[in-house]
Amino acid sequence: MEDLIDGDNPAESITCRNRLGTFIGVSQDVFDRIWARLTDAKSTSLLYVSMEIGADPDVFNPIRSFLEREGIKAAGDKTVSTLIERHLKGPGKIPNYSGGLGVLAGDILKSMAECRIPVAAISLLYSHGYFSQVVDSQLGQISWPEQWAPEKAPGLYLLRSPDDPSRPLTITVPFYDENDREVPAAARIWMKMEVNSRLDYFVPEFLLDFDIAASPGWIREAARNLYDSTSQKVRITQRRMLGGGIIPACRALGLTPSTIHLNEQHGVVVVLLQIVELLREKFGDRYAELAGDEDIITAADKVADRIVYTIHTPVKAGHDVFDDTTYRAVGHSFCQRIIEVMGAREADGRAFNMTRLAMKVNRFTNSVSRLHRDVTRRQFPDYADKITAITNGVHHLTWISEKRAELFDSFDEFSGWRRDPGVFARAEALVGNQRFLTYLKEAWSADNRKLIKFVNNMLREHRAQMERTWIIPPNYLSMLDGNGEPLEPGTLTIGFARRFSTYKRADLIFEDLDALAAPIIAHGRPVNFIFAGKAHPQDEAGKKLIKTVLDCQEELYRRSNGLARLVFVPGYDMYIAKLMVAGSHVWLNSPKRPLEASGTSGMKAALNGVPNLSILDGWWAEGYHDGRTGWKFGQEDPVDLEKLSEERKALLYRQDSESFYQVFPEVVAAFHDPERRGEFLEMAVMNIALNGPRFNTNRVVAEYAPRYRLDLPRATMNRLERLREHYRSDEMNG
Ligand SMILES: *Cc1c(COP(=O)(O)O)cnc(C)c1O
Repeated sequence: MEDLIDGDNPAESITCRNRLGTFIGVSQDVFDRIWARLTDAKSTSLLYVSMEIGADPDVFNPIRSFLEREGIKAAGDKTVSTLIERHLKGPGKIPNYSGGLGVLAGDILKSMAECRIPVAAISLLYSHGYFSQVVDSQLGQISWPEQWAPEKAPGLYLLRSPDDPSRPLTITVPFYDENDREVPAAARIWMKMEVNSRLDYFVPEFLLDFDIAASPGWIREAARNLYDSTSQKVRITQRRMLGGGIIPACRALGLTPSTIHLNEQHGVVVVLLQIVELLREKFGDRYAELAGDEDIITAADKVADRIVYTIHTPVKAGHDVFDDTTYRAVGHSFCQRIIEVMGAREADGRAFNMTRLAMKVNRFTNSVSRLHRDVTRRQFPDYADKITAITNGVHHLTWISEKRAELFDSFDEFSGWRRDPGVFARAEALVGNQRFLTYLKEAWSADNRKLIKFVNNMLREHRAQMERTWIIPPNYLSMLDGNGEPLEPGTLTIGFARRFSTYKRADLIFEDLDALAAPIIAHGRPVNFIFAGKAHPQDEAGKKLIKTVLDCQEELYRRSNGLARLVFVPGYDMYIAKLMVAGSHVWLNSPKRPLEASGTSGMKAALNGVPNLSILDGWWAEGYHDGRTGWKFGQEDPVDLEKLSEERKALLYRQDSESFYQVFPEVVAAFHDPERRGEFLEMAVMNIALNGPRFNTNRVVAEYAPRYRLDLPRATMNRLERLREHYRSDEMNG
């Protein structure tokens, strides 16, 4: 790091400027080189398109770490001082994501910065975030607009107009009315810089913000909340903002990507608009009259050659279907004709299926785990041959807790783990190393104490709030009188946190409270169940799941003689996720197989050495390793389309919960039985050894890289090759 420090003014060494603003994070030289590559039409580069990106600075911020380490608090330049202060004292959240898809996008982009991939990302900025979750024990989830100030967030910059630096850079994005008349909308562009851990590479994320005076009211409103689904029109407007904003944003910024990666189909409108561009080049402004179906197909083939597409879920709600009239209200009728010619209509003929369009127009399609690949092939038999698997991962530098990082740092076996998580494979040699096991236990205890303290503080605060507001705290334990702390550190802690949607079955283990309590009573020791997660505000069934969990608390407490303590933590975000995955002893996941395409929170746990207790679905079908890394339960039938139903009776509550009650006593015994404690620790070590090298986004990026057709320096290629050696996602049998 020494070479970064430039004489008397170390802040200057990480300051960079161009016509669009002043930024901190990398040197001017690094900034210029990356920017030049991304804007050079003769060079290859990637554009990553995602409806959401989750990358909160409170869980990973290498710039803050650098400033703290070097003791930098200010700079000569006032603007730069403000930027520094924002990193040191600014808000830790950028609430511009809803869950797994966004966090994955953020993790992938962070790993792309680590792996030095020439890439820019495009997403939207939501001025009211996703939503802020308050939970009341009677009413269940209550949603509020998220209040946040993008202009104060560290690493997020409103780009300035090069012609007039007092104004923001704005782009215009055409929408259309029913008569194909143009309705212009406008967006400002924010840039979030994803800087790597060595501060010598970055990935810019450009977030389009349509909530400005130059946009019509209905577009401004649609721009405020991620996945606002108050109407079909709002939903399609959001998709159009993303897909329609790409070409104007690239023009304004000078980006010249050779490949576009669609992270889910949300941005697929860009495919339509690129086809239109090619036809306009060929036929001029009268392309709509002159182009025949063959011309559309030829243009689509050319566009397909630039598109990489990742499908993320077999669940219906994840696929956009819009009827003709809704589409008509925002898009030019010629785009409808393209959709027509591409065969992206639903069987009933009245609606467009955006997933079909994305499936058709690309040069590479992948699913996000092996099992999900097999499901996707059945869902889209016409494309079965081309659907491959690249199993998801997580950004290990974000998700490994500080205590675990210190542990890895203090053993030579792990030297270099930050750059290459493949070195985690060497953990296997430490299974019998008492010094390592002792340190591991200490790190785990410290992380557990931190989590339990957080939860206890929350319970106490809720109790105080009850006296001040009308909110009834969501936890029975907040109401319980008594001295001392509600939860004790060191007791078996089972974590469950993810979006609350029907197929994830957050309430599965509460089917039979006596069966759940039995092994706990048998051991006579308390067990903590810590749950968290948001349900989409319009998902009534999802919200009901939260209420069910709340409603179980008292009953479970009583039936277990006060030993089973079930707590719900509101406001799930990346910070809470990080506390939970490292501080739990067991990470629980109970989705209906095969609807969990991948799942990533279990990987975060695994990288901290925390065993999973999960349905054999998504990534766990690959990470389970015959019981060496955790436990499985539930049905394991081969996948078929009938299993995709989300009807209550198809969700197999009875079968899968019974299977859970069979394995749960094993888990409790492995934790409590002094003679079996060794097994528990061995599982922890084997998670690091077997799952660490595989389920990280450096490996994921290494698997995508050849698909992007990028010219990369030899050293980068070699490094990606080494990362790929740790895993081949697309192998037929796990
Ligand atoms: C990791 C993460 C998720 C995704 O968890 P899954 O297990 O994939 O459902 C969702 N939300 C947050 C805040 C996360 O950190």
